Amino acid sequence: MNRSPCRLSLDSAALVHNWRLLASMSGAAACGAAVKADGYGLGAREVVRRLADAGCRDFFVATWAEARALVDTGVSVSVLHGVRADDMALARLRNSRPVLNTPVQVQRWKDAGGGLCDVMVDTGMNRLGVSPTDIADGLLEGLRIDTLMSHLASADEDAAMNEAQRARFAALAEATGAQRMSLANSAGVALGADYHFDLVRPGVALYGGVPRAELAGVRQVATPEAQVLQRRRVRAGEAVGYNATWVAPADTEVAILNLGYADGYWCGFSGKGQARAGTTRLPVLGRVSMDLIAVDCSAAEVAEGDWLALDYALPEAAAISGMSQYELLTGLGSRFDRIWR
Ligand SMILES: *Cc1c(COP(=O)(O)O)cnc(C)c1O
Repeated sequence: MNRSPCRLSLDSAALVHNWRLLASMSGAAACGAAVKADGYGLGAREVVRRLADAGCRDFFVATWAEARALVDTGVSVSVLHGVRADDMALARLRNSRPVLNTPVQVQRWKDAGGGLCDVMVDTGMNRLGVSPTDIADGLLEGLRIDTLMSHLASADEDAAMNEAQRARFAALAEATGAQRMSLANSAGVALGADYHFDLVRPGVALYGGVPRAELAGVRQVATPEAQVLQRRRVRAGEAVGYNATWVAPADTEVAILNLGYADGYWCGFSGKGQARAGTTRLPVLGRVSMDLIAVDCSAAEVAEGDWLALDYALPEAAAISGMSQYELLTGLGSRFDRIWR
């Protein structure tokens, strides 16, 4: 087998730890998992298998293609984007149900014979969802609703909007006949018991994201690693990389790694990121290329063919790169071998 020269080292124990942490913070509420966008770039099937083994029973994807890719895992999947006309052929997928978002989707689902569904209500984000007024006017009558959900716009901040959304959502408790209510994403879990209702839907924190300080116990899951393709000595005064933005102040040992912005190692890491050889830090020199970066390896024994890990703790990596923790996960490209340990 031809192994890729870059790989994601994925920590199964950290993933499960993060889910258990969120589950325990959520008290009596069930803890699900958002696995859309291929498990935030890590691999939805592998994530689902590990979290289902740990006891997770509710999974969330965006589209029916994502649900179909999970059907043989046997887990319950809610499809957040609901049912477009084009989706109706797939929408009877075993163990899957739509999250209905609009009056058109509600009617489409009723016309197709109904069946168990979820419903999204908009409580102020003005993204997806039916309105509380639609509900008061009887839009949902006749539906068999598993979970009524809404989504917080600003759970990662201490914004007044959080309480306003929570109150609007809580007021719908008796209005729909839904078996369960669900409001909180990862950051929402940290807002406290009033936000947990019956089911929480964390995503980013499962994968090592820390959207609020209360979630500091979340552990890093994904670490990019890249192979050294070349090692060279750069003489004092010579430059490295596109546009010669880094000029060697002294003779420097440089390793060229098989990793670049096409893999999701974004240009924001230029001159700021770092690799590690053991505990020795190897700073990124100059610009990140599409498929390559250069690091200063003067302080370590590094040879062609060696593997080096990149620093990728999400809060810190987001701060230095200017990308969000979410983008740092979902941008991780298809050229990585994804290796679960
Ligand atoms: C993505 C998503 C989540 C998970 O959000 P995180 O911020 O990643 O925890 C939960 N609910 C809905 C509706 C989503 O779209």
